[in-house]
Amino acid sequence: MIKTKKTGELIIISGTTCAGKGTIINKLLENNNNICLSTSYTSRPIRPKETNGVDYYFVTHEEFEEKIKNNDFLEYARVRYREYFGTPKKEVIEILKSGKDVILEIDVQGAQIIKEKFPNTLLIFILAPSMEEVKRRILKRKTETQEQIIDRFKTAYKEINEVNKYNYVVINDDIDKCVEKVKSIILANKCRVDRIEEMSVENEEEFMHELLMDKDFINLKIDYGE
Ligand code: 5GP
Repeated sequence: MIKTKKTGELIIISGTTCAGKGTIINKLLENNNNICLSTSYTSRPIRPKETNGVDYYFVTHEEFEEKIKNNDFLEYARVRYREYFGTPKKEVIEILKSGKDVILEIDVQGAQIIKEKFPNTLLIFILAPSMEEVKRRILKRKTETQEQIIDRFKTAYKEINEVNKYNYVVINDDIDKCVEKVKSIILANKCRVDRIEEMSVENEEEFMHELLMDKDFINLKIDYGE
């Protein structure tokens, strides 16, 4: 009766530093073949425990700038400490065409650019329960310099002020509940009326005629339950 669009949806998941975006996204991808995560390109140095082609495609500044020239990105931005981050165009469009949803884990600037190009993009913002909690997590993991940490917090405060540009905000104070909320948002997004391409309902005249001729309708007696 209803034919909906076959293409996938673009889903942006942004959030304050250490809000647990990565864990949430991994849980969304678990046992779900209909969602893919786009791997971004970056010029920032690779960190211990990161894998090229999995966490990001790590390239040099020059390689990144060459890709900008070739129009290879859906969007790109200079995030924190001036490094480039960009969403590859070809891969994302191909996945969407295949009918799968694509998650972009990108920052607020990138989210705005994508939203302008693809207005139906679903924008979800994940908030950490408190800055105090974020501080505890960052200091514990010991992967960044003091300067980089200060930069992270400055960006976080800036991004919180832009939360109203998103469609949904979810606080990650309990990972399982947070994941359930995000899953529900993604599911509801699939039922948007603008995804309807074709709708066919029985012809009204014929249907009403048949209803009036229907034996059960003609002999209908209301059951008042007494
Ligand atoms: P990091 O990986 O250095 O911890 O954080 C990178 C930051 O850049 C995060 O805020 C992340 O959301 C953002 N980011 C990652 N990939 C992209 C991208 O392709 N485009 C944009 N605009 N931001 C990105």
